[in-house]
Amino acid sequence: EMLTLPQLLERASETFAARPALEFLGHRQTYRQLWANVQHFAAALQHLGVQQGDRVAVMLPNTPQFVVAFFGASLAGAVVVNTSPLSTAQELEHHLTDCGASVLVMLDSFYPRFAEIEHSPALGVRRVIVTGIQDALPFPKNLLYPLLEKRKGTWVDVKESGKVVGFVHLFERHFAAPTPSSLQPDDVALLQYTGGTTGMPKGAMLTHRNLVANAQQAVSWMPGLREGQEVTLGAIPFFHVYGMTVAMNLSLLIGANIVLIPNPRDLKTLLSAIEKSGVTLFPGVPTLYNAINNSPLTSGYDLKTVRACISGSAPLPAETARQFREITGGANLVEGYGLTEASPITHTNPVGGEQREGIGLPLPGIDASIRDDQGQAVPTGEIGELWVAGPNIMAGYWQRPEATAQTIREENGLRWLLTGDLATMDGGGYFKIVDRKKELILVGGHNVYPREVEEVLYQHPAVLEAAVIGVPDEYRGESVKAFVVLKPERSAAEAEIITFCRGQLSAYKAPRQVEFRSALPLSAAGKVLRRVLADEERAGRM
Ligand code: ATP
Repeated sequence: EMLTLPQLLERASETFAARPALEFLGHRQTYRQLWANVQHFAAALQHLGVQQGDRVAVMLPNTPQFVVAFFGASLAGAVVVNTSPLSTAQELEHHLTDCGASVLVMLDSFYPRFAEIEHSPALGVRRVIVTGIQDALPFPKNLLYPLLEKRKGTWVDVKESGKVVGFVHLFERHFAAPTPSSLQPDDVALLQYTGGTTGMPKGAMLTHRNLVANAQQAVSWMPGLREGQEVTLGAIPFFHVYGMTVAMNLSLLIGANIVLIPNPRDLKTLLSAIEKSGVTLFPGVPTLYNAINNSPLTSGYDLKTVRACISGSAPLPAETARQFREITGGANLVEGYGLTEASPITHTNPVGGEQREGIGLPLPGIDASIRDDQGQAVPTGEIGELWVAGPNIMAGYWQRPEATAQTIREENGLRWLLTGDLATMDGGGYFKIVDRKKELILVGGHNVYPREVEEVLYQHPAVLEAAVIGVPDEYRGESVKAFVVLKPERSAAEAEIITFCRGQLSAYKAPRQVEFRSALPLSAAGKVLRRVLADEERAGRM
């Protein structure tokens, strides 16, 4: 039977009642307390006028407030809109206008960005609920007040002054139980904007069925998960679909204790949380595993409790995986794949099963097929676009029927999502992502997949991070340019890197230029943004 998101949490609050659900800066809240807080927040939102189908934007790092706001809004019948805390004022304006949010829940320190745009005529935000990072810390409430004292004069003191409402104030008030909404599994639960890696973010409408199904699919795929026993590292951002499903929803489904890390770049906090809380599940992204592998801090911590890790959102270089397994004493780090429009996971390597290079097998309930440009299935082993179908595929893009029509295709009773990724499938049914269709480089008539070149660059001992794009070339149409960040205290010359690549790649694939950088542009989800490098390259030529 199919649940809505609030039903999923309500069940967990019964099954795992007194077990810890969230842990933040050493404080815990149990499943029962979390559910009580979620009900309270839902009632508060209804008090503020939120009705079924209204959009409530949540702009918070990984904190207890995120989880409370997310499920509280959902229980009130609203559509949650995950909002990146990294958004600039202009991005925020575009985002809030596009989704038509009437309420925004945000961290106090982000407020100035909203203040810049609050008079924008197209904006429909009526209420802003602000919270300090430690507000939700000491649930239950009686522990809250000493902190409040210390924080006098900040937003935490706000009650209900016009537009701005204090999160803490809402928890000081009493509300009757929230009015039950008539939510159905096929109602939209979430507007999740795509990462914007290749263009303007679009809002994917994900239903309760989509989100609950994907958490269940991921759980059923991981043998040996112990209900009510696991400790998840909640380090990858929940405002991104991958962290939301894999670190948050999946954990709540199995009664795990989520250790919340608001800033994954703070490796000291992250590593000590793993050791102190005995983290067993560590969903991550390649850039994060890579950062841990290369940090001088890492050797000071015991990471041996970590048992299972899914790496998603971008290709996992084999070398990164190997080093991370070594550091954790053999944690099961498997590569998975997904996209916003699929809630997001569609493939992973079998946890505890045979690992092959690539993204593994489709999750239970997912059909996957490799198609040519005419929509015909290609023979085994050949490159084509990856199409996927299943209960986790979005209802469509918010207010973009044309984009939806280009992305979703009905065929023999299946609703296929065209992923925009080029992939192959081998005889054993294992898939490999070749690259994004949009980021192919065409060198003198030959296809170059940036990822293949990046894989080689990562093998160079001095290279920490690498990204490859195509740049205009008079003779070849395009040629390959690499952007490289060197490891601390390592050096390498451009010519040396090019020679290294030539040793392993056909000449047309090897970079003709290498530019050294101190850092690469990353998306909010921690993905290297080749698009930004290409834009900078274009701007530099003009
Ligand atoms: P936008 O769609 O706005 O350009 P985006 O593609 O980053 O942004 P997401 O939904 O966050 O949006 O990311 C999904 C994409 O990430 C996939 O389509 C794929 O290109 C890439 N990806 C995810 N996992 C992997 C993986 N294991 N290997 C290779 N690529 C991956």
